[in-house]
Amino acid sequence: MPAATAADLLTWYDRHRRALPWRALPGVRPDPYRVWLSEVMLQQTTVTAVKPYFEKFLTLFPNVKALAAAPEEAVMSAWAGLGYYSRARNLHACAKAVAAVGRFPDTEEGLRKLPGIGAYTAGAIAAIAFDRPAAAVDGNVERVMTRLHAIETPLPAARAQIRLLTQAMVPHDRPGDFAQAVMDLGATLCTPKRPACALCPWMRPCRARAEGLQDTFPRKLKKEKGILRKGAAFVALRAGDEAILLRTRPPEGLLGSMAEPPGSPWLPDYDPAKGLLDAPLDARWKRLPGVVKHGFTHFPLELTVFFARVAAGTVAPEGMRFTPREKLDEEPIPGAMKKVLAHALAGPVPVAVAAPPPVREPDLATPPEPEPVKRRGPIPKPPSLRPSELARVVKRPPKAR
Ligand code: SF4
Repeated sequence: MPAATAADLLTWYDRHRRALPWRALPGVRPDPYRVWLSEVMLQQTTVTAVKPYFEKFLTLFPNVKALAAAPEEAVMSAWAGLGYYSRARNLHACAKAVAAVGRFPDTEEGLRKLPGIGAYTAGAIAAIAFDRPAAAVDGNVERVMTRLHAIETPLPAARAQIRLLTQAMVPHDRPGDFAQAVMDLGATLCTPKRPACALCPWMRPCRARAEGLQDTFPRKLKKEKGILRKGAAFVALRAGDEAILLRTRPPEGLLGSMAEPPGSPWLPDYDPAKGLLDAPLDARWKRLPGVVKHGFTHFPLELTVFFARVAAGTVAPEGMRFTPREKLDEEPIPGAMKKVLAHALAGPVPVAVAAPPPVREPDLATPPEPEPVKRRGPIPKPPSLRPSELARVVKRPPKAR
């Protein structure tokens, strides 16, 4: 298998380089301001989204001095819509630091000291704007390099190895073009799915392609799902105005300031058999069969749902409110709590303690838990959880059983 060379890649780049508004024409020295501005804008953002903002910034702030002298509100307002607003604040702070010295630092080390410039951005600016033999390793480059060398170590542990391998390939005569060439290869041919290997200048030396395993690189560690937490949620439906008892979560933390039916803390060892101790008011609470499951980024959650119909005129406990069913769409109810409401309200609504037991869909997210419920008819299909459909579900008039 032949070795991958920078020369092969640069030959391909000379013919297929992308025309981008911040990219200097061949033979023209790149403007560090344009390189820096584009690299900051491109952090976590697509080329398509960045293009109009780049043009707007160049019109409003044609050089780093103009940007440094602009009021922060003007910079933030020009950035509005591009997201990750800390980038705009750092951009402005960086412009002031550069304007105070009179020029951009021309080394990776110097660039790293500026606000908002991390390892990748420093490497990219040093290579592209100042022809320093620096490695600029972003997600595209990681994908290309892990495939080229069939790196089995999963990300993020593989990053040091990828950086070394990339650095070893940087040619001293065209480091900026090499950086842009690897980025272009990752963006146009070595794409996350179905890479166009037949067109790739590194097709022959690519180990992943030789093994037919391109799509499996880079290897990634499976995300830790976290420890299961459990809790109870209480859905109270007030007779008369058909309103649901809700409260607002604290502004800090998970689901901050969002609305929910009152409930217990969420704990790994929560015992739903003792759930009634957490009930928000005295009522004939009925524990519904099954659980509502929801996956948060850091942990899965299982909620046991209790339902009660409370008397007309019942006053909400302090810090809570009754919201009419037709106005639930106006409440900021997160997905997990929409599942809870749908679980409690999708089926026939109990009136007091009527028997026999309700016929309900036991679990909205996963196969049902074994519950001793005798089904008397077909299981109702779980409702869609889109807001408008939630409202439709919960507006359905209750039926006596
Ligand atoms: S041969 Fe295919 S997998 Fe390998 S670097 Fe080229 S495009 Fe990527």
